[in-house]
Amino acid sequence: MQIEFQIDTLVAIMRTKLFVLLLILLAQQAADHVWTVSELFTRNIGTNAQQRTQFPPHRIIGNLYYVGTESLSTFVVDTPEGAILIDTTYEANVPVIQDSMSKLGLKFSNIKIIVGSHAHGDHQEADAMVAEMTGAKAMAMAEDIPDLQRMRTPSGKARPMYQVLHDGDEVKLGGMTLVAHLTPGHTHGCTTWTMKVQENGETHNVVIIGSMGVNANTRLYANGALTPLGEEYARGFKAMHALSGDVPLGSHPAMHGLAEKYKKLSGSGLAGFSGALLVPNPYIDPTGYLKELNIEETAYNIELESQKKAAATPTSPAPVAR
Ligand SMILES: [Zn+2]
Repeated sequence: MQIEFQIDTLVAIMRTKLFVLLLILLAQQAADHVWTVSELFTRNIGTNAQQRTQFPPHRIIGNLYYVGTESLSTFVVDTPEGAILIDTTYEANVPVIQDSMSKLGLKFSNIKIIVGSHAHGDHQEADAMVAEMTGAKAMAMAEDIPDLQRMRTPSGKARPMYQVLHDGDEVKLGGMTLVAHLTPGHTHGCTTWTMKVQENGETHNVVIIGSMGVNANTRLYANGALTPLGEEYARGFKAMHALSGDVPLGSHPAMHGLAEKYKKLSGSGLAGFSGALLVPNPYIDPTGYLKELNIEETAYNIELESQKKAAATPTSPAPVAR
């Protein structure tokens, strides 16, 4: 009797408008969390173990597959003429990519083209290793090539001879076209990739965010104006706003909610299934791209404002190292 009474009371409370309003407010608060640049860095990079732990390999949409780790994305575009690999990540992760591809029935040796999100070791360290193992051609945005060539790797392999890409260039293989968009700031040649994929007779627009994260100790503002790097970020965000897509992805899986989306996909019992999905594909997320862009731009703006404020104070300290 006592328990029934409590449940009745609870149900009565839950039916009130006030309770519903409270739930909406709580949900909004969770959705509107304002991320700082250091929080975003932590969210994206994950732990050392996450950077090197295989995430269950699976088909994302159309002929696009995930073969990366828990916190570093690697994507494969499979075509009848071979595969395109996006982000080799660390040399230590090459066996993960090989194993993930083999679990999906894809041949590592079929990789014909290697491209990347940006010239940081956690995304492109293994370019030379994969190029050597597969004979694939590596391509990179012109503005990132000096940093890519300077990159040193555990194997000590010479960096690949990159085929030079420029903003808007198309990379084509086996009927697929990937477009390289220069979205600078995080690195000078940071690249956001777009492509069209087909699923269930529909065309979807994939957009893979390179990164708009502000690196530690980045001076965005000095002497009353944006620094050259600050201007690069401004150009980067402008370029990002010109893009759109209904399948948002990122160089770090936290940018596209991999864990949650994969859970929905595997919950359907069809993870890795290469035919038509019987449930809505969770990777189709028409508002996801703008949401992530907004998160990254807000973090940038908060950092910029704090640097402006610090500049206005005569004894302003340097930005705190993160
Ligand atoms: Zn980076």
